[in-house]
Amino acid sequence: MDKYSLQGQEETLDPGNWERAFETGRQILEDSLAHFRDVRERPVWREMPQDVRSSFEAPPPHAPQPLEDVYEELNRTLMPYPMGNIHPRYWMWYMGAGSFTGALAEFLAATDGSNLGGGNNAATLMDRQVVDWLRQMMGFPGTASGTLTNGGSMANLIGLTVARNVMAGVDVREEGVAAIPAPLRYYASDQVHSCHQKAVEALGLGNKALVRVPSDADSRMDVAALEQAIARDRAAGRKPACVIATAGTVNSGAIDDLSAIGALCRREDMWFHVDGCIGALMAIAPASRHLVAGIEAADSLALDPHKWLHVPFEAGCALLRDSNAHRAAFAVQPEYLEEKPRGIAGAEFLHSYHLGTSAAFRALKVWMALKEHGVAKFGRLIDQNVAQAHYLTNLIEAEPLLELMALTTINIACFRYDPGNRNEAGLRDLNTEIMLRLQEEGIAAMSDTTIKGRHCLRIAICNHRTRREDLDLLVRELLRVAAEIEGTD
Ligand SMILES: *Cc1c(COP(=O)(O)O)cnc(C)c1O
Repeated sequence: MDKYSLQGQEETLDPGNWERAFETGRQILEDSLAHFRDVRERPVWREMPQDVRSSFEAPPPHAPQPLEDVYEELNRTLMPYPMGNIHPRYWMWYMGAGSFTGALAEFLAATDGSNLGGGNNAATLMDRQVVDWLRQMMGFPGTASGTLTNGGSMANLIGLTVARNVMAGVDVREEGVAAIPAPLRYYASDQVHSCHQKAVEALGLGNKALVRVPSDADSRMDVAALEQAIARDRAAGRKPACVIATAGTVNSGAIDDLSAIGALCRREDMWFHVDGCIGALMAIAPASRHLVAGIEAADSLALDPHKWLHVPFEAGCALLRDSNAHRAAFAVQPEYLEEKPRGIAGAEFLHSYHLGTSAAFRALKVWMALKEHGVAKFGRLIDQNVAQAHYLTNLIEAEPLLELMALTTINIACFRYDPGNRNEAGLRDLNTEIMLRLQEEGIAAMSDTTIKGRHCLRIAICNHRTRREDLDLLVRELLRVAAEIEGTD
């Protein structure tokens, strides 16, 4: 026991010198503000020099060093080499663009320090309020419930889990999936996000339980083909359980016919899930909201505040129409987490709404963003991005060397550079090289994908800093780089 005896002053992680901590804190705050202010002057992305790269291989530090020195190292190794998604010309994959307020919110959430496992504290009330705000923004009824998650993938998993438990015809939580009498089938278009495959696998249903329904020429689910697939499965003794409609596909932003699919689910007595990670928030955008009409009828909906609300990663949200079914899927009552009539445990624990226990205080960044700007401004910014994607689409269609590769429905444009003398493989090589050079020169970040077997470049404008002139510049620079590669400069 001797080795545990206390001697002298106990240690703590708090600053030894608060004055210096104030200084460092102020410096970090100022530098962060400048980081956002000057983002347009920096390249979108840059390759790390080798010495910076190898600094991340250093062994664990045993000796202490002043916080100022730790921060100074970050200014050399971390801050100059971000992914780039806060830059006005970042349009890769699908990202929010962050904000200074978001950064402050993360800082304040950590300062508050609450664990959103729940309990009787202000952070928990704010979490419930933010979920309820999102519910109202989506037009869900007051009886619905929801939870913030680490992202859309988890939000989808939560919706699909409740769907499985409700549709299984057996107590899956107690008996397990082996007891499900007829194999469950989920249906989604062939454009469905990959997280749904992971979800059905994690749910023990297997990848083949996710039936990929063909999409039409504009990448929307073919509803007649969906009906046929459902009929086939019923005839074969399988149980059609759930349709996953996508409101904004990741490839091209296509929106499945939510009203038709919702009606079909009611007719067929199936669960109606909407993956709205990209498009759900269009429900608050005046010019775009008609595109997601019918979303409010979903049994479950996944949306992603870290996309079009631009809060820093991570923040997703699952909404469930039936709060009882939601709780029935996740509620547990361990003896060490008993709710009490008063005090710190005097509130409902939030782990009854998701798979985890501890949780980050994600609500604050959403709360601060909505309070600072108001819902209406976010709606306008969404419409602005959609208008910009259509502006870019017009530029593409006006340029003979560029070919539009998919219908631009919302804020995603797919296209390629085609000089007319290359086959598919040659075009893929050429366009990939264009994309990589634009990244490496720090000019613009776009990604690529393959739609209906054809490779294309992809611009997803989920970015409140983008201006039309950035899109003009993109087309100009793309043509320059392409000409350089072709050696016809
Ligand atoms: C982004 C996205 C997801 C996954 O969401 P994460 O927040 O990345 O986990 C799922 N579906 C669609 C359509 C998406 O765009």
